[in-house]
Amino acid sequence: MAQHFLLSATARTLSLKAIYRMGEEKSHEAFCKMRWPETNGAPICPCCGCAAAYNITTRRRFKCKACHNQYSVTSGTILASRKMSFTDLLAAICICVNAAKGLSMLQLSRDLNCQYKTVFVLVQKLREALASEVAGKRLSGDVEIDGAHFGGHIRPENLVENRKDRRLSKHKTGKSRVVVIMRERKGRTLPFVVRHEYDGAAIIPEIVSTGTRIYADEATHWDPLHGKFKTYRINHSEGYSIDGANTNQAESYFSRLRRMVSGQRHHVSSQYLHCYALEAAWKEDHRREDNATLAGRMLDLAMAHPVSGNWKGYWQRAICA
Ligand SMILES: [Zn+2]
Repeated sequence: MAQHFLLSATARTLSLKAIYRMGEEKSHEAFCKMRWPETNGAPICPCCGCAAAYNITTRRRFKCKACHNQYSVTSGTILASRKMSFTDLLAAICICVNAAKGLSMLQLSRDLNCQYKTVFVLVQKLREALASEVAGKRLSGDVEIDGAHFGGHIRPENLVENRKDRRLSKHKTGKSRVVVIMRERKGRTLPFVVRHEYDGAAIIPEIVSTGTRIYADEATHWDPLHGKFKTYRINHSEGYSIDGANTNQAESYFSRLRRMVSGQRHHVSSQYLHCYALEAAWKEDHRREDNATLAGRMLDLAMAHPVSGNWKGYWQRAICA
């Protein structure tokens, strides 16, 4: 059997050892090069676009010669107002991309010796940046679709006679959500969070181009797709793949997401499920890339992403509440 990719030396091109050996100055340079690739890291004012700036080296900030605005390498990006050092930020990115199934924020906070909330907000911002890679993306060719339930766990009572039938809707908490996945064979993976699996059939035509071949399982709520697409079905009670009809790539995605949710997060709220679903999709799509490429890709997306509307001021809001 061929060696697993993550066991091979080609998968390991970046290490925490290398990041901390680089130090703060070199880490800052790496951020500058990602932010301003067109000038090879020389600053460009985010206010007026002027390339002439004074370098305030003691504070790692720049002052625009034209409009006198002071800015840093992260100003105007999703990492604006950061408090962490550039070395710690790079380390956080490295640890995140190394965790193929994601990692718990408590673990990351212990790794970096900072508060849980700091890394929670940081990683949520990074996830938002990852999502921009597929924003507005439409799928075509061969697309597999599937749905799976997450969340809404009902804890069984101690005594058997007190236990409820958890399959009945009257006993459900209403917190469960369905992740509907659309996965292009040899292409991108797009997850959507909906309340019911049949809601997924309605959004598929908005994301999938006409002429696409769709692969789905035997669940009846996918039946309407036959009228819009060439649709192939696989009955899982008969086999996993018959005559090329299978949803195995979609199942692989759910395998990663399930391990992420049950093995790392343990609890997932419906509010944040889409964030984890997006992270799993990004990791699935780039699973054969070495970790330096992945870290570079994540940093590149963060540096190109504007300030987050969802996460900016999270600390202040939380304190007021
Ligand atoms: Zn300026």
